[in-house]
Amino acid sequence: MSMHIPFDNSYAQLPPVFYSKQAPEAVKSPKLIAFNDDLAKVLGVAPDDPADMAQVFGGNIVPDGAEPLSQLYSGHQFGSYNPQLGDGRAILLGETIGADGQRRDIQLKGAGRTPYSRNGDGRAWLGPVLREYVVSEAMHALGIPTTRALAAVATGETVQRETGLPGAVLTRVASSHLRVGTFQIFASRGDTNSLKQLTGYAIQRHYPDAKGPMGLLRAVRDAQSRLIAAWMGVGFIHGVMNTDNSSISGETIDYGPCAFMDSYHPQTVFSSIDRNGRYSYGNQPDIAVWNLAQLATALIQQMDDPQAGVEEATEIVHAMPDIMQAHWLDTFRAKIGLALQHGDDLQLISDLLALMAKDQSDFTNTFRALGQDHARNQFADRDAFDVWHVKWQERLKGETDSQARMLGSNPAFIPRNHRIEQMISAAVDGDYSLFHGLNTVLAQPYSDQPDNIDLTRPPATDEVVKATFCGT
Ligand code: AMP
Ligand code: MG
Repeated sequence: MSMHIPFDNSYAQLPPVFYSKQAPEAVKSPKLIAFNDDLAKVLGVAPDDPADMAQVFGGNIVPDGAEPLSQLYSGHQFGSYNPQLGDGRAILLGETIGADGQRRDIQLKGAGRTPYSRNGDGRAWLGPVLREYVVSEAMHALGIPTTRALAAVATGETVQRETGLPGAVLTRVASSHLRVGTFQIFASRGDTNSLKQLTGYAIQRHYPDAKGPMGLLRAVRDAQSRLIAAWMGVGFIHGVMNTDNSSISGETIDYGPCAFMDSYHPQTVFSSIDRNGRYSYGNQPDIAVWNLAQLATALIQQMDDPQAGVEEATEIVHAMPDIMQAHWLDTFRAKIGLALQHGDDLQLISDLLALMAKDQSDFTNTFRALGQDHARNQFADRDAFDVWHVKWQERLKGETDSQARMLGSNPAFIPRNHRIEQMISAAVDGDYSLFHGLNTVLAQPYSDQPDNIDLTRPPATDEVVKATFCGT
């Protein structure tokens, strides 16, 4: 009766120190809002009757082969170490090995209390569930490594936040949920055996060619460097880059107060709790290095010669800014149509960004317009843009396929905050048409979809979203 998911679980085979076995808590009247058929195919999950799927992805029926558990981890939150966090409302059903040979976690988020819930209710409300669904799928379509959304279910229950709100459960898919914080907890407890075991597990699962803890550190550094450069390229602000939200796989994880910038400014912050701008757009590369240093500190604890470990880890971490900068340059070169590398490209890109910051140009539309020859309209100081434009045209000589490169690197469509907020308001009133509409348009971010041009429009003054909230 219950749907068939071809589970092949590995995390549940690790010793119990890594998790707590925990079944999801049933909900009152689960209704399927969305099911991601394309992703299901990749996972080898066959769709079923919507009512049955609602039972499974709402947490009321544990499908055959699932071994539900909550994972243990700790982490630095806004720079302060919290010695124990863990999945407070997420339950890993298990893993599948997809048609592509990739192992992936299938996790319910908002599935009830766990031993790590602390004061939380273990639940999620509809808004953040739909936000994560739309934004994570949009990230995937943009070509950026990310967790994905398999299903969203309305629970028919009320969740108490500042006010009573409709409850929901998100089914999240990740290449794993191992985080920097998963390593930190065993390191800080001095549990070297578990740390070694976890390191071996992470290497085998994600980086089979990596040699030992320092090999893992190097691989994570490289994956995170690529990820952060990709975020910068689309104006994405994660908003809560705590070490428990920093994935070992290099995927974007935990869409809480995240946002895409409309008008460009490097210090942009949306999260209401990020008062000092620690996780502002422009700080993300520095924070990624800081997080890698925390991973290094944790990994070193298992080494036979800690002193040698410190030296090697320091060297690995210190190399990260340059690696990230190289990816950043490649990303932004492509955004202005360049494939060849010239010494003054950094200057050319920085000059454009400085003009954009001065004029508060729309990040997405300005870059998109560069490939369509109408970027001038995005600037208040058009004379300054014209000066830049001359230099740019000069630089483009000798490049080929510039326009195609720009149109393939600069999306027309991003999940703009005001559209997300409008979508959530409608969904709370029972209208999911904006949710489904956004998913459809954002699945093809690099194609001009003239019928949907309104979704490329920056927010009007009364639509601007000034803050996003963690009250998820
Ligand atoms: P986040 O910043 O969303 O990654 O969450 C940080 C920690 O708080 C994680 O351990 C979450 O599992 C936990 N948490 C967040 N919301 C809830 C909730 N409603 N109930 C229980 N735990 C929660
Ligand atoms: Mg988290």
